[in-house]
Amino acid sequence: MTFLAAPLSRRQTVAVDVAGVKVGGGHPVVVQSMTNTDTADIEATASQVAALARAGSELVRITVDRDEAAAAVPHIRERLLQWNVDVPLVGDFHYIGHKLLADHPACAEALDKYRINPGNVGFKAKRDTQFAEIVEKAIHYGKPVRIGVNWGSLDQELLTQLMDENSRAAVPRSAREVMHEAIVQSALLSAERAEEIGLGRDRIILSAKVSQVQDLIAVYVELAQRSNYALHLGLTEAGMGSKGLVASSAAMGLLLQQGIGDTIRYSLTPEPGGDRTKEVIASQELLQTMGFRSFVPVVAACPGCGRTTSTVFQELARDVQDYIRASMPQWREKYPGVEALNLAVMGCIVNGPGESKHADIGISLPGTGEHPSAPVYIDGERVTTLRGDGIVAEFRTIVEAYIERRFGRRDVAAE
Ligand code: SF4
Repeated sequence: MTFLAAPLSRRQTVAVDVAGVKVGGGHPVVVQSMTNTDTADIEATASQVAALARAGSELVRITVDRDEAAAAVPHIRERLLQWNVDVPLVGDFHYIGHKLLADHPACAEALDKYRINPGNVGFKAKRDTQFAEIVEKAIHYGKPVRIGVNWGSLDQELLTQLMDENSRAAVPRSAREVMHEAIVQSALLSAERAEEIGLGRDRIILSAKVSQVQDLIAVYVELAQRSNYALHLGLTEAGMGSKGLVASSAAMGLLLQQGIGDTIRYSLTPEPGGDRTKEVIASQELLQTMGFRSFVPVVAACPGCGRTTSTVFQELARDVQDYIRASMPQWREKYPGVEALNLAVMGCIVNGPGESKHADIGISLPGTGEHPSAPVYIDGERVTTLRGDGIVAEFRTIVEAYIERRFGRRDVAAE
């Protein structure tokens, strides 16, 4: 058995330029997200796109499902520009994408990428012509396309054909394996057709989403072996809360470890009224914890146990984490490289001093039976001990001073 100690090298794919964001070709894995507002509601959609972009989404997809939505797209783009948000917008088309793109040239122009699902682009004879019409629009406007197969809307003709062939085979495969093959073929045949129409390989991204972890891994390993298109990863219908997070992380983490995947999205079901930016944070945390990219300073915190005397330690960990997230938009400008910072917030003396010494800044709070004091370590050295009710505020001041000292821009002329 082989245990992997480090990520395998990234699979070589053809790079796709989405309005300046490079997907594939060895470029860093791109974080993307999708709105859940009615696109026809310009204010609501622009606000959510801005929130997703500010949270760190590098591409944002919006639904374009009817005339009112298509008509709203250029206005959403305008509003975003007024707010200095220039994140690339991806239009998600189903069934009538060919018509919407033809009837709304300003929408076709304002979008930076089109996403089409070959399983529901049309039926029978119309399917090929409508697929071709969308691809021709992409060529005309110079836009890349994601060909996104989804097992919930898989091309039924192709699946039936493969099932029939399989039933006649000397050694038939399982129905699940045939379904995997149908998903992979649907993606590859559609990409081939798009290339025949004239869309360059450097304008095509593939995805093949399913809702089960093992199916996703099987399908993407196959896609990666049989093509060099840039790949968008995501577990569809991942679900709510920890279930969606764990399933998506397991599937995408394993594929990324094998060098598969050029852009990712967590398809999490938000709580009613919940914060959509959680899917962006989840993508960033997956990439950062796996060592592929750095987005925000990492706060290591112990889980706490019977040795923690109060909730001070949880509150401090949460406070520091929230403070860092909220500060990042300004810090990115003001403190280049700050995302490499490591903090540790520990609950007691057992692992507290050791873990704190490994961090850039660490604090070890007092556990049961310990003196009510919290030693603080900076770059491995104990520098001070905090006591009393002001620990949280004082620790934050120490963090701010450290960041300013280590990452603050220096005025060379003044030195
Ligand atoms: S560091 Fe202390 S409080 Fe935290 S989990 Fe370990 S023993 Fe428990």
